Amino acid sequence: MSARGLDETHDPAAKSWVASANDPASQFPIQNLPFGSFRPKGETGWRLCVAIGDQVLDLRALAGTGLLDDLSGDLRTTLAADLLNPLLMRPPADWTALRRALFAVLSDPTPDPRAVSALVPQSVIEFRVPMHIGGYTDFFASIHHARRTAKLMRGVDEVATNYRHLPVGYNGRASSVVVSGTPVLRPNGQFVVAGSLLPQFGPSRRLDFELEIAAIVGGSNALGRPVPIACAEDRIFGLCLMNDWSARDIQGFEYQPLGPFLGKSFATTISPWIVTLDALKPFRTPLESHPKGDPVPLPHLREPDGAKSGFALDLTAGIATAVMRVARKPPTVVTRTQARYLYWSFAQMVAHHTSNGCNLLAGDLIGSGTVSGPAETEAASLLELSANGTRGISLGDVESRTYLEDGDEVVLDGLAVAAGRRSIGFGLCTGVIVPAPSA
Ligand code: CA
Repeated sequence: MSARGLDETHDPAAKSWVASANDPASQFPIQNLPFGSFRPKGETGWRLCVAIGDQVLDLRALAGTGLLDDLSGDLRTTLAADLLNPLLMRPPADWTALRRALFAVLSDPTPDPRAVSALVPQSVIEFRVPMHIGGYTDFFASIHHARRTAKLMRGVDEVATNYRHLPVGYNGRASSVVVSGTPVLRPNGQFVVAGSLLPQFGPSRRLDFELEIAAIVGGSNALGRPVPIACAEDRIFGLCLMNDWSARDIQGFEYQPLGPFLGKSFATTISPWIVTLDALKPFRTPLESHPKGDPVPLPHLREPDGAKSGFALDLTAGIATAVMRVARKPPTVVTRTQARYLYWSFAQMVAHHTSNGCNLLAGDLIGSGTVSGPAETEAASLLELSANGTRGISLGDVESRTYLEDGDEVVLDGLAVAAGRRSIGFGLCTGVIVPAPSA
């Protein structure tokens, strides 16, 4: 692990002159400062920002005020871009320097009028995916999810033999990654219904969510040059929440022998905010220990004993049906889980991904896989929660679901929590299911 130490930006007592950031309920206190790309509704130009309370700080406007002139010109130039990629290509020391400079601007007890003029209320803006994603890879890093799906999909009690030796993953589809709030079209595809031997083509009947976290890659390694595990975290700018929408019936018919394809590639939703690894520094924790007797990873995937390679994130998924939303009822939380349940760390995923010489590029997205925990109530997909459609899940007062219906909204939430620390969040990751186009 690289040593990115705690500094003044992690002081739990620090306050901002942006009053809403000091509300204990805010996910965006001054200790967070997550990055996004926004524009005021109705305007055309996108800009980079960080969240602070119920506002965003427009980074291009701020860089033009002179308030960031202590930073290098090369670093300040990246703030005028409309996507994060130029910033992601800078070295991690620059990310830390920028965070400290933004903290200084926002924590000044007497706000500079130039900084005040760079604030925009979140209520009047819209967001987009804040980086160009050249490559998207999704892993399968929760052994609890892997074990339950093996049982439900294949009727076997154990994960495949490779599982405990390497982080299993597949190459996903980058072009259909969308930002929170984007409607999700129910996909059409081929699947086989009970009692039939032949597939039919039509709207998926087993549409599911997968609650995941994802890493955003910074920097690049040349083709043919693996990233050693000891510096793999230097290649991670930050994390976001991710919903890997999954059509189980389409996936079930297509996945052999090459893995998921159209059952996954119709949409993947991420939260608008990228919470930096710097901001998450106080929330590092060991991953859940491996069962006794599991193999020690080979040297290129081996982390030091007691490595704090996990994150203390409380994660939830909720569902609000169309009826519930009309009645202004909050989503029913259907699962509560924790990021430390992963069997493999993001550092191990980066080291494994590049171990054959594959080049990871700034802006690439790496999904953890469904973050299911050991308890049934900690299962992070409907496949698990409904036992593949055989068990109803109560929503609101009167409705129930096995899989998602049109009009359902899935709401993912995540909060980093540690004793004595100011909690920080990701903002919500939401999507409403809309009917499939006519097949
Ligand atoms: Ca997944």
